[in-house]
Amino acid sequence: MAFDVATLRQDFPILGRLVHGRPLTYLDNAATSQKPQVVIQALVDYYSKGNANVHRGVHLLSEEATQAFERSREVVARFLGLKDSRGCVFVRGATEGINLVAETWGRTHLRAGDEILLTALEHHANIVPWQVAAERSGAKVVVVPVTPRGEVDLDAFRRLLSPRTKLVAFAHVSNALGTVNPAVEMTRLAKTVGATVLIDGCQAAAHFKVDVPALGCDFYAFSGHKTFGPTGIGVLWGRPELLDTLPPYQFGGDMIRKVDFEGTTFREAPERFEAGTPDISGAIALAVALEYFMPRQADAHAHEQKLLAAATERLRAIKGLRLIGEAPEKVAVLSFLIEGGHPHDIGTLLDADGIAIRTGHHCCMPLMKHLGIPGTARASFAFYNSFEEVDRLAVSLEKIRKMMA
Ligand code: PMP
Repeated sequence: MAFDVATLRQDFPILGRLVHGRPLTYLDNAATSQKPQVVIQALVDYYSKGNANVHRGVHLLSEEATQAFERSREVVARFLGLKDSRGCVFVRGATEGINLVAETWGRTHLRAGDEILLTALEHHANIVPWQVAAERSGAKVVVVPVTPRGEVDLDAFRRLLSPRTKLVAFAHVSNALGTVNPAVEMTRLAKTVGATVLIDGCQAAAHFKVDVPALGCDFYAFSGHKTFGPTGIGVLWGRPELLDTLPPYQFGGDMIRKVDFEGTTFREAPERFEAGTPDISGAIALAVALEYFMPRQADAHAHEQKLLAAATERLRAIKGLRLIGEAPEKVAVLSFLIEGGHPHDIGTLLDADGIAIRTGHHCCMPLMKHLGIPGTARASFAFYNSFEEVDRLAVSLEKIRKMMA
């Protein structure tokens, strides 16, 4: 499939809008991605032609909705490189996916004295659920440090692994720095001590092919809205045989086998973890997003890597600008500081030029503390970003730098 950014951008209606009278330069993709028209249309079509509840009705609309919902699970499985979709649980997003594991797996597997190994670059969503699970069980959270370049310190990772390590949870890609962690190697090392491994794939899924069997992990979570799909839908994948041993997360319709006031039995995964009416339209539209993305994925990655190289070179040339996080393996995320300027001011001034970035701690307060900075300004790219937008960012930052000098 030909990869022409100008043509692709036409698939995303929002990219044509103006902000403060300037063309929108959307560089906040790590916060949420924009949606192609096919995804927007899938939501409209579902509600205008196909709305019905799933798994229950005998009427045509319900059967169609059920088929579309379950087909979406198959698409998700394909997206994750899986043959079997049974481990793919629809959740609200990565946050809910991680909470689900911390609650169900954590409650049944963690004991006093156990250790949960996290890295210093985790998003709060992959820290706080484990802190709570640790408090409840008497387990301890242990943190792998990050090098000044923004990489997980693998020697420290090896040293901190021990037979006490019951769970290792880490981001596939850092949202704050863009670092791509060596997930296969980290999982392999974690498995040498018999730990269960959860990978937070929130920032990986929109940037390169995720192959869950090759990773060898036990759980993998991502959010639909960062992967060109709607908000409110995401996926937790778990090994089906492991999921089936866990207690349900929530209780209600759809997840039961038999309800009796004498006692209730539960279904197996994935329904076991999908109590109540799911986000049907969200799952259907997510599948459309993934089907839009998958044929373009390899070219998209190559394009983004060129954007990253170009943006890194342009930003490095700006006097007083300091890049934060320069790991050799990165997705197109550039975190930076400008001497004499507060990140929020940089963000506001860029916004005046129609350039949307994010500023602050990026839900990574421990990482910011670790790096000894209060926060950063972060430009994060998607495959629909152009070299012209890199130029706009650099020109605007050069102007801002002069204002701040
Ligand atoms: N993990 C990472 C690395 C993230 O970037 C995010 C979102 N910023 C999350 C988890 C949480 O995702 P969500 O808010 O979509 O649940």
